[in-house]
Amino acid sequence: MKFIVLKFGGTSLVSPELRERVAGKIIAAKDEGYVPVVVVSAIGREGDPYATDTLINLVKQTYRDLPGREMDLLMSCGEIISGVIMAATLQAKGYPAVFLTGAQAGIITDKKYTEARILKVQPQNVTKFAQEGYIVVVAGFQGTTEDGEITTLGRGGSDTTAAALGVALNAAYVDIYTDVEGIMTADPRIVEEARALDVITYDEICHLAHEGAKVVHPRAVEIAMQKGIPLRVRSTFTDSPGTLVTTSGEVYKGTIDITKDRIITGITYISGIAQFKVGISPGAEGLKQQRRMFRALALAGISIDFINVLSEVILFTVKDDLAEKAVKVLENTGYVPEVIRGCAKVSAVGAGMSGVPGVIADIVEALTKDDIQILQCNDSHTTVWVLVKREEMEKAVRALHRQFKLAQ
Ligand code: ADP
Ligand code: MG
Repeated sequence: MKFIVLKFGGTSLVSPELRERVAGKIIAAKDEGYVPVVVVSAIGREGDPYATDTLINLVKQTYRDLPGREMDLLMSCGEIISGVIMAATLQAKGYPAVFLTGAQAGIITDKKYTEARILKVQPQNVTKFAQEGYIVVVAGFQGTTEDGEITTLGRGGSDTTAAALGVALNAAYVDIYTDVEGIMTADPRIVEEARALDVITYDEICHLAHEGAKVVHPRAVEIAMQKGIPLRVRSTFTDSPGTLVTTSGEVYKGTIDITKDRIITGITYISGIAQFKVGISPGAEGLKQQRRMFRALALAGISIDFINVLSEVILFTVKDDLAEKAVKVLENTGYVPEVIRGCAKVSAVGAGMSGVPGVIADIVEALTKDDIQILQCNDSHTTVWVLVKREEMEKAVRALHRQFKLAQ
């Protein structure tokens, strides 16, 4: 069977009209000769009656510390409601359809409630119903432990469900349907002239997603990449082809080397970051201090990022909401850090920047021209990160988008 996995995000499912559109996409895939397997998120966004955040709010108002196990039982309801409605929509159009929970679809996870990881997929139930001619609709974002406890996969987890099913079924494509035209050169909510990309490498979208582009979950990209399942990000609202995520080999295959043509593929951002600056002694004492400091932070479960170790000063960032805890940990080990809260990390990602001189110069030029102060800067072969004040984040994203002419 030639499977295709189609995943629909919450905003694609909010109204009966949109669900009709979604059904149309599913039926079109069937007409093209694919066996469609559908993955759904909960309907809508916060405020909509069955959205994940709405379910969370139901309990958070009265009891903040609900154990993860019960939290997952509550949160898993959103996708069950959404999936049953989608199956009903297909049935009403005369297409036999069944709905399966994550557990029924064989999504097996570890036991980390609210942030579980998929360990394996046992898709026998999915293939059985597909063979019988049903369109199978699966609840995204949820799974089960080996001993039958319901788990959820964290924000954006439905993308991961889709990718894992795609791999298990050896699908021709995993299509992530959402409310934008595809993977864009920047978040269209910030950069009006952002453009959808035709094609992007797994590596690039992985970096973009890790650095804040929430359009697809990075774990989903990693899973698809491992088995080379092509991923597409497309719009539910239009008929445009969307963005194909594939290997650089595929991208390079044509006569035009597109990743070399474009130095930067996209700009992304993460806010809610605090910068730490810690002075250390020079020489051997400083080395000992570093070891003690990093170990203490690790033992306290504080993950740090954007680390620059210089001879007499160490710079790093933590999430704003962990800043207070990090200060305490450092003070307990004898350091008084300088902390700048309310920062944002802006990243420029592109496989084509590797070995190209002048990228940093362009970035510095673009930001300083707009009077944006760079608090810290770092780079790898595909990404340049800059830390700026949160209030300058949007301006920085736009400045970089303009500098690298990404709208063209
Ligand atoms: P869904 O509910 O369909 O999963 P998400 O909200 O998770 O949708 O992802 C789609 C959103 O991602 C878009 O509405 C867009 O604002 C945001 N986004 C951020 N960065 C990008 C980007 N580089 N390309 C496209 N969308 C982006
Ligand atoms: Mg999403």
